[in-house]
Amino acid sequence: MFKWLRNIFGSSKLAEIENSIAYKLNVRGICPNCGCDAFNKGPSGGMSLNIRCSGCGTKYWFAPPFTPEIIDNDDRSYNLSKTFILKKFIDGEYV
Ligand SMILES: [Zn+2]
Repeated sequence: MFKWLRNIFGSSKLAEIENSIAYKLNVRGICPNCGCDAFNKGPSGGMSLNIRCSGCGTKYWFAPPFTPEIIDNDDRSYNLSKTFILKKFIDGEYV
């Protein structure tokens, strides 16, 4: 993590940010629950997307920069989606 951020927030605040659901999903692209980096896409609308972790199956409402929320909806559309690496998606490698 950047030194200037540590200077601004202090190390305990920074650890809190790094452990947050928003940082893990929106920045690192990993599941806050299990650390897996692969997901399946579910329903989408507007600028938000529903994603399901390939590792543990937790589903999230994903719409950076907003804080993700854990959701529980039908698995059918996720089952039809190819597994993708969320970090690549965040970095714009494909949509
Ligand atoms: Zn997971």
